[in-house]
Amino acid sequence: MEELDHRRNLADAVYAILAPIYPDATPLLRYRNCFELLCAVVLSAQCTDEQVNRATPKLFAAWPDAESLAAADIDRVAETIHSVGFYKTKARHLVEASRLMVEKHGGEPPSSMEEMLALPGVGRKTANLVLSACFGQPGIIVDTHVLRVALRLGLGAKADPANMEARIAELVFPEKRSRFSHALNRHGKFTCTARKPACQACPLALICPRIGLPPS
Ligand code: SF4
Repeated sequence: MEELDHRRNLADAVYAILAPIYPDATPLLRYRNCFELLCAVVLSAQCTDEQVNRATPKLFAAWPDAESLAAADIDRVAETIHSVGFYKTKARHLVEASRLMVEKHGGEPPSSMEEMLALPGVGRKTANLVLSACFGQPGIIVDTHVLRVALRLGLGAKADPANMEARIAELVFPEKRSRFSHALNRHGKFTCTARKPACQACPLALICPRIGLPPS
């Protein structure tokens, strides 16, 4: 119980510090609608947001909605997105997910976690991101940046996204979860980076145990 209280207090403090620094609680991926967001997040696995943002304009120009992408030739889609990692698998996922969206959801991303996870290429990170951005549902989006920062802070102990999502859910009220995730994501991207965390300049330095890092 004491340990849970400690992590709750820590999460409260992290939120209080980071939320004003990163007030924009939206994805860094570029998109114009929920279909595009879902495609962009599927493409972002093992890939930077910048790489995805460079690839999606061509993809959406050729196939602007789920109907057209569902009918697309997978090899042509793969060719169009070849600059992102695992492009062949991702092309297949995009076309198959579009087919399911057309068949079952009127050509739009579905609004429940269960239906989201039934789409090819969609895991909990993608589902939480789309459900929060498109449907206002509380989502804890554990991508590589969020996982790394949360581990260093000690919000959870396992390097496993599903486990970290559950740990953060114990600490953060639903209405704050999306914002908390986006703030942690940006903090990981710009300050608490994988190779060279800027601990000296970090606004969390006084409360961060820097788990897994050498003493400063
Ligand atoms: S103090 Fe260092 S390890 Fe902790 S959050 Fe800041 S940059 Fe990351």
